[in-house]
Amino acid sequence: MKPYTEDPVQELRELTEALEDWLRFQRRLGWPGTPAARETPPPAQPPAASQVLTLKEIRAELGECKRCKLSQGRRQIVFGDGSARAALMFIGEGPGEEEDLQGLPFVGAAGGLLNNLLSKLGLRREEVYIANVVKCRPPGNRNPEADETEQCLPFLRKQIEAIKPQVIVTLGRVATEALLETQTPITQLRGKWQKYGKIKVMPTFHPSYLLRFPRERQKTWEDMQQVMEYLAAHEEI
Ligand code: SF4
Repeated sequence: MKPYTEDPVQELRELTEALEDWLRFQRRLGWPGTPAARETPPPAQPPAASQVLTLKEIRAELGECKRCKLSQGRRQIVFGDGSARAALMFIGEGPGEEEDLQGLPFVGAAGGLLNNLLSKLGLRREEVYIANVVKCRPPGNRNPEADETEQCLPFLRKQIEAIKPQVIVTLGRVATEALLETQTPITQLRGKWQKYGKIKVMPTFHPSYLLRFPRERQKTWEDMQQVMEYLAAHEEI
């Protein structure tokens, strides 16, 4: 403990130090700071190097995975793509043919539509993170089966922990059901905020569905407007 002093200058210095300690503590608890402090805010995320390393560790743990039968037909594992510090994360159901070829998520026709959506929202693909519930292509682009999702989902959960996004957008029924552990139809959930732990989740339609039913694109656009408004309000985009 510091000795008691009657020196007013020393007392003021100690009070200032105590106030600075208290402010640091409040910021660690999530307080955004005063308007002046927000001009130079502390980084909202841990340093990039440690997060990239964390994603690398998850990828290393996955290895040449054979935990489920999807390993038998895949060309390569599609781990995920984008910024390790992304405030916004998209989750789809699984790789298709083009993703299986390139080793990247959402690079086929549905990926083109997603890129287009991002562009219209003023976002670059490198700013967000994109992953799937299962990391190997289901044969014939069928939906992942329960045992496959069960084996692969823990790795997606670890990716979310590493990235700590402010918002997750689940694309389509399969991703929404898997992440939120719900059976509520996507038609009822889309456009309504959900929670995954402390992270806000916005379910919306899968780009493949929007390719088949272009009239529904307006709904996904509206869902994404909500996401962008939330991120803007929290100074994340
Ligand atoms: S889908 Fe996931 S759990 Fe199954 S083999 Fe691929 S990486 Fe492993």
